[in-house]
Parts: sequence; C-alpha cells; structure tokens
Amino acid sequence: MHEIADFRSDTVTRPSPAMRRAMVEAEVGDDVLGDDPTVKVLESMTADLFGKEAGLYVPSGSMGNAVCLGSQVVAGDEIIVEEWAHCLNFEAGGVAGLFGLLTRTLSSHRGAMDPDEIASWIRPGDLHAPRTALVAVENSHNFHGGAVVPLANLTAIRELCLSRGVLTHLDGARIWNAAATSGVPLPEYGALCDSMSVCLSKGLGAPVGSVVLGTRAMIERARVFRKRLGGGMRQVGILAAAGIHALAEMRGRIGDDHEHARVLAEGMARLPGLELDPAAVETNIIFVKVTAMPPQEFVDRLHADNIWTLALGAEECRFVLHCDVDREDVDRALAVMADVLPGER
Ligand SMILES: *Cc1c(COP(=O)(O)O)cnc(C)c1O
Repeated sequence: MHEIADFRSDTVTRPSPAMRRAMVEAEVGDDVLGDDPTVKVLESMTADLFGKEAGLYVPSGSMGNAVCLGSQVVAGDEIIVEEWAHCLNFEAGGVAGLFGLLTRTLSSHRGAMDPDEIASWIRPGDLHAPRTALVAVENSHNFHGGAVVPLANLTAIRELCLSRGVLTHLDGARIWNAAATSGVPLPEYGALCDSMSVCLSKGLGAPVGSVVLGTRAMIERARVFRKRLGGGMRQVGILAAAGIHALAEMRGRIGDDHEHARVLAEGMARLPGLELDPAAVETNIIFVKVTAMPPQEFVDRLHADNIWTLALGAEECRFVLHCDVDREDVDRALAVMADVLPGER
C-alpha cells in the first residue's frame, strides 16, 4: 500500500531501485554522434520485439508520433485519424503546427474505425484535393477507456492502405496493455504498420522515453526530424538503461494492472452515484461517469484522503492503473469512494 494512491495516469510511476541501479551503471557515449551503446541496445531490442528493421529512442511519445509523421508526409497532405486520437487532441496541435497536415477525423467504435469509411475518404490528390498520405491508429485507445482495437480491424485497415498506397502509423503508447489483453504477439502488431511509436514511460514504469520503429530508411529520416525538434540527446544511455530494464522486467507484470482495473471497476459499478460498465474495461484505464456530484468535487474529496484521480470533461473521471498502485490501494480507494458518495449501499 502507498500513502498516496495516484490514479491520474500511468505516467506517474517512479523508477524502482533496480531500475535506478541499471541507470547508474549504464555505459554511455554521445548518442547524437552515434556512439551511445546503451541507446543502441534499447533501439535494436525494441525493434526485434516487434519484428521491425530499426528503432529510434525519443524523449516522449508526442515526439515519437511527431517524427513518424514528419518523416513520412509533407505539408498539405491529409492524414486520416480517429476523432479522439492522442496525436490529434493531446499533442498541442503538432500535426498542424509542426507539419501543416490536414486531418480527416473519423468516429469509431471504441477506437476501431470503419475500413469502408476510411476507404471512402482516401484521395490520391490532384489539382484540387489534398493527397491522403497516412492513416493513424491508436492501440490501446486512451480516450476510449483503454479499449483494445481488434486485430481484424487493424488488418483490414492495413490491407486497405496497402492497396491504395497509403501509409499506416500505429500509436502504440500502450501496445503492451493491448497485447496483454488480446494475446496477439507483438510482431503481428509490428507487421500491420509502416511506423509505430511505443512508450516506455507508461505501463512499463521508465521515467522517460519512447521508441519509434520502422524501416531503416524511415528511421534515418526520423532521426533528422528528432534533431530538428531538439530531441537529439547526448549521454542518454542513462535513460535508455531504464527503458531496457522496463522491457526486460516490467512487461510480464502488466496483467496485474488489468486485474486491479477489473476489481476497481467492478467495485465502482456497485457504488451509488457512479456509472460505468465494468465489461468495457479491457486494460488499465477506467472512465467513470460521476452522477452524484460534479466530477471535480469528487476528485477534490478523494484527494483529501490521498486518492488522486483526474476529472475529464463535464461528467467523467479517469482512473489509470500502473505498477505503483497495488491491490491494497485499490481496496482503500473503493472504501474512500464509498464514504464520499451519498446514499444507501
Ligand atoms: C501518453 C500518450 C502518448 C505520448 O505522450 P507523452 O506524454 O508525449 O509521452 C501518445 N499516445 C498515446 C495514446 C498516449 O496515451
């Protein structure tokens, strides 16, 4: 049990003692000059996991998505993206501000866009219309409550894109969570996209970093965009060592977070003044509608008892499970919520 149970995000985790030791002992060099051995190990290890040719270590998931887009499309191109995608809504407008991209946003069923609808929007580009350059998918899908996008949907989108000469990008910030639930081997996800970005600093507990994956040629272009965005870092093996530790030691326990999410969701569904469908909780994220009081008031009252969460929008709160929340924290959170919420139980 922790003094504070922090459900705001899976980004709040702190490096474990073993991870810190790996960081202290990391061999380093100047990675911009290409000689940090620890970064190279992390990049090739991640690429191998997904069956991709090459990898590039970047400081954040936002930069990961940015360098994938920047290195593959040009200003004035259109990308097709799900309406609640992270790269569209939560990366400070980078797709437009950095790269001058048009976005065709499509609704979805829990993150799974309809391939027929995508097909109807793909345009080759001509004197009048923009060219559709890329389709971006997100798995698991953060703002659809950590939903796992079905493999069949990803496969259909991939086949469509290949047949129409359009690139596919996978925002796999939480691909570890998706894979833990779906049982799909990581190389199968890797095979369904041209570029992907995976986070080490979410469910895997590293303090910093994402890895971008693609072909060797794509990664070399991405390296230029990383430098352009100020993401070329020097003796960064210190951070990459945390990523290696995360990949080796932390992936295996991610099912615990899903189990904690299930227990929390089922408990919350029984409380008055909260509305959610526990069956919709597939991974480590829970969105709950708060009907008993304004969500921010609920957040503030939990905060007073050292349960931290976030109000998102006018009606909902989000709870995210991660390696720094244990089963006792979940039980205590449920007890505090039962106290804070009014009425019969
Ligand atoms: C967190 C997240 C990112 C990247 O976020 P950073 O804070 O920039 O590391 C990208 N995509 C998704 C789906 C995310 O949840």
